[in-house]
Amino acid sequence: MIATISKILIIDDEPVNVHLLEVMLASDYEIHIALNGPEALKLAEQYLPDLILLDIVMPEIDGFETFRRLRKIESLANVPIIFLTALEGKADESCGLELGAADYITKPYNAEVVRLRVRNHLLLKQQRDLLVNISLTDGLTGVPNRRRFDEFLELEWRRAVRSKTMMSLLLIDIDWFKQYNDIYGHIAGDEGLKEIARTLCEMMRRPSDLMARYGGEEFGCVLPETDAAGALHIAELLRGTVESLKIPHEYSHAAPFVTVSVGVACMVPTHGISTITLVQEADAALYTAKAGGRNRVSTFHTP
Ligand code: GH3
Ligand code: MG
Ligand code: MG
Repeated sequence: MIATISKILIIDDEPVNVHLLEVMLASDYEIHIALNGPEALKLAEQYLPDLILLDIVMPEIDGFETFRRLRKIESLANVPIIFLTALEGKADESCGLELGAADYITKPYNAEVVRLRVRNHLLLKQQRDLLVNISLTDGLTGVPNRRRFDEFLELEWRRAVRSKTMMSLLLIDIDWFKQYNDIYGHIAGDEGLKEIARTLCEMMRRPSDLMARYGGEEFGCVLPETDAAGALHIAELLRGTVESLKIPHEYSHAAPFVTVSVGVACMVPTHGISTITLVQEADAALYTAKAGGRNRVSTFHTP
């Protein structure tokens, strides 16, 4: 993993206090500064800091309210927030911890304590991020796993219900893969799976699209805000790219190479239906592609 410099957002209305912290931390971290709550909310979304240091006493919007608003920003959900408070502010301290603050740093600042608390909380965050990452990644192929797929599909589904937009799902299944394992062995099978997983993931062009290992030799691809024509285009692109890898497969009845079949389903989600319907439709389309000879794309049509 490439080591990147952690980003810290300091929020305090007193430039002198900000400067003190900046001097203590600037040599080790990338520092961003906000002198009030509204500015902090803007900068936090823009820079996605790894840690936030937040003063409690500020005019207009105080630290507690700023904290509540920061916590509503989805992309900052795992970012620890440390409150900055005067030594006599014991009541503030429990109030902030109650809200969910990671810790407290008291003024006047002790440089060593500030550096150590910041370092410890950044380490904890890194460990948490790593665990989340592992839990959402497929061990063999390194691509997003089924848990990530389920979470993502649910999230995008709800988003599409709200925005009343079309979304698409592709189910991709490697053809004659049992035979591949039988002939070339499971180690070669694993290598083939890894190459195909990597290839499929690299084909995702929009940051909002997700390719995941759905299970076994199957992959699921969620395409938000994508209609049938768009989904079909991507499905055909994926199928053609896997074929062009030319991974030899002597005993496939579809081609002399490893190929995939793709089932496509599209719908505008509504409250009355669930993601299961979309998955079932993609699965039915995949079955049609298999029955039609494999190495092809099929779209679901209402029977
Ligand atoms: P079809 O064309 O109908 O999809 O046939 P198929 O042989 O691909 O499908 P089937 O469901 O009969 O078999 C799937 C095979 O995928 C079974 C198993 O050997 C292989 N497979 C699933 N997961 C892994 C894996 O993690 N590693 C390896 N090497 N093989 C796997
Ligand atoms: Mg299968
Ligand atoms: Mg298969």
